Parts: sequence; structure tokens; C-alpha cells
Amino acid sequence: MAKIIDRSILQCPSCRTERLSFPDEKTILCQQCGKQYGIQNGNKYFFVTPSESGISFIERIKETVKKYPGVYRLLVLFISPVCQTDYFKQKKIVKSLLQGNKHAIILNLGSGPTDISADVSNVDMFPYVNVDSVCDISRLPFKDNSVDMILNIAVLEHVSEPEKVVSEVYRILKPGGILYCVFPFIQGFHAAPYDFTRMTEPGLRGLLAHFDTQEISSAGGPTSALLWILEEWLAIAFSFGIVPLYNILHLFTMFLCWPFKFLDFLLVKHPKAKNIASSFVYIGRKPTKDVK
Ligand SMILES: [Zn+2]
Repeated sequence: MAKIIDRSILQCPSCRTERLSFPDEKTILCQQCGKQYGIQNGNKYFFVTPSESGISFIERIKETVKKYPGVYRLLVLFISPVCQTDYFKQKKIVKSLLQGNKHAIILNLGSGPTDISADVSNVDMFPYVNVDSVCDISRLPFKDNSVDMILNIAVLEHVSEPEKVVSEVYRILKPGGILYCVFPFIQGFHAAPYDFTRMTEPGLRGLLAHFDTQEISSAGGPTSALLWILEEWLAIAFSFGIVPLYNILHLFTMFLCWPFKFLDFLLVKHPKAKNIASSFVYIGRKPTKDVK
């Protein structure tokens, strides 16, 4: 169960005013531009109406499974080619922030159905089970300097202008607030529902240049990168141009290869692992003195 988002940090994503009212249990009303937003079950906020779009076979399976967060978690752990070697780091950074400030506001931006802890609020453009605020993450419905930590895990490749999201993250973080961001480097195309970009380590540093960098390391390592490519390569090479056969073979090669990914717990420590990492984890802080 995720943490309910406190209404006091909300603002209108359209006109940016903080003057919102809650005339009834189902409505958020902007007193400046008159826009109305929805509330479900008292604490799930809808700032956009989600739309469906055309996605691939594997992605369709993923989207179906995402309706069942427990099953989705198992699938990510056991079938996905990517070993999330930073999994425990995510839990640890949340825990250590809460030890110093048990009222800290922590958002998982682009959470999907994932629920990292009961102290993290989930934000996504789709209304998955655990999501607390449904909104466009490149125009967030939160006030400036209102959030203590933002997790953003394998999300920025799916937005057409990651700079906009980064600028919003910077805006809503308190000075000294922490950004924990995972960005893919060597991964196959995976629309969810879109997929636009990858980043090298210097690229990621550049994108997040306004933050004070504390750490940048491999999250998914060289084995994850290799397995993703190998699974798709085998499916392409042995399906002879027949897409339904490719779909079946791809599922089969995923089932066959996944156990090897755990080698990455060792290999991410190699000094050159970043050359072919599957993804990077970036930890940084918004400077206490605003330099932007
Ligand atoms: Zn407004």
C-alpha cells in the first residue's frame, strides 16, 4: 500500500496555481483557470485521462500482467533479461532518508504498478493499481520545492522530451532533495507505450547537470545487456521472417536465458562494466543554493 499524497503539495498542472479547491469527494477544481480534475476512492488523483495505444506482443503481455502487481514483480525478477542490481539500493536510500525525517515526501515517478514501500507515493500516466496520482510527468501537479526524494526508474526513455521531466523534477524537489534515477543504455526497443532514447554515462551526467552528482554506477550490467540482445537475436535468426514464430521464440529464449542475468551482481563491479551496461543508476541532490 503506497503512501497517500498530501493535498497540501498539489497545484494545477495547467496554469500552475496553488489555488485548488476540493468541492466534493470526486473533484479537484482550479480556482484560477477553472480546470477540473478527478479523485477516486478519496485519494487517487486524476490529472489526465489515460489513453491506450498500439504496442508489441511482449509489451501487450506486460501491460496485461501489470494489472496484477505481484505477478508483474515475479516476471521482472525471473523472466526479464535485466538484473536490477540496484534493487536493494532503492530500499536502502528510502529507508535512510526516513530515518532522518519520518515525514519525508517521497515520489516514485513513473512507478507503473511497482510499490517500493508504504512510505513512497506512486505517480504514473496510467492508473495502475498502486498509483496515487495519474498525471503527465512532464507537467507535474506538485508545488515547487515540495518533495524530499524522487525515484525515477527506467522511465525517461519512454518520454519524448526527458529534459522537460528533469526540469519538473528539479522544480518540485526541495533544495537538498534527492534524485534517484535509472536510465537504460544497452537495451532493445521496448515501447511502454513509447520508447525514444538511450543514454551513455556522460550523456546522463549532461542531462542531470543541474544536480550535484553523488553516484553514477551500472544498474543492469553487461550480462543484462548481452541477454537482451541475444534473446532477440535468436528469435530473429530462427523465425525466418515469420512474426508469430518470432513472438513464440522470443518468449522461449527469455525463459531459457534469464538465470544468467544474476552474474551481473558480480560484473557490475568491474571498472569497465559501464562500457556495455544495460542501465545506469544516478544519485544526486538538488543544490541547496539554486544555480539554475
Ligand atoms: Zn489551473
